[in-house]
Amino acid sequence: MKYAIISDLHANLEALEAVLADMQPHAEAVICLGDIVGYNANPNECLELVQKVCDVVIAGNHDQAASDLRLYDDFSEYAKDAMHWTREQLTPAWKQYLYNLPSTAIFGGCWLAAHGSPRDTDEYLFHEFHFQEAFAYLYDYMPEMRGCFIGHTHVPMIWECTPEGVVAPAEVTSLTVPLHPRRRYIINPGSVGQPRYGSPAASYVLLDDRALTVEFRFVTYDVATAQDKIYDAMLPLPLAERLALGQ
Ligand code: ZN
Repeated sequence: MKYAIISDLHANLEALEAVLADMQPHAEAVICLGDIVGYNANPNECLELVQKVCDVVIAGNHDQAASDLRLYDDFSEYAKDAMHWTREQLTPAWKQYLYNLPSTAIFGGCWLAAHGSPRDTDEYLFHEFHFQEAFAYLYDYMPEMRGCFIGHTHVPMIWECTPEGVVAPAEVTSLTVPLHPRRRYIINPGSVGQPRYGSPAASYVLLDDRALTVEFRFVTYDVATAQDKIYDAMLPLPLAERLALGQ
């Protein structure tokens, strides 16, 4: 089975449409790791598309903030402004949809979908010690999982853990990364709607669970239109500027 795994759409309709068009010839199922809303200007439209095309959807911290499940006092100033705006825009039905989303899900029998980390929607995994803890959690509580897909940092990454417990970034020599059958993985597809790896292209991954490969895909989209919508909605200007920088 070929799964497309997307994360951190953040109400960016132009990016989401481009990513869905790109995956269309490849993906047999679509998994969404959350943060459907927040930051950009099309929350209701993105929710509509996600509900239509995704087979598995979990909540991100922005989704939980938008549906009263989480306080967002700790959000950055611009994220907070965008969240006030988002909460005004969302229809009651979409708020209810977000409220009902699970915080994790298992797909394909042995792959975990999570937003921040396997144990916490709002935990950031950036560095080696973060991944060591996350792999230890997986071994202790979900030993049957071969891998976990996470979002939240908006930075594409793939880390592996050997049967001896050695944790390191996986060796990446091309955009398609072979997965070792005896190793475990934590994989971040990056963000559809607000990339933060220094390029404006939206990113996602394709998992082939038969061939055991993960392919990172980078998709250019109409950034200018997404920016114009941010200006029209009077959302904070830096949220538009960062889209062009991939920051
Ligand atoms: Zn996010």
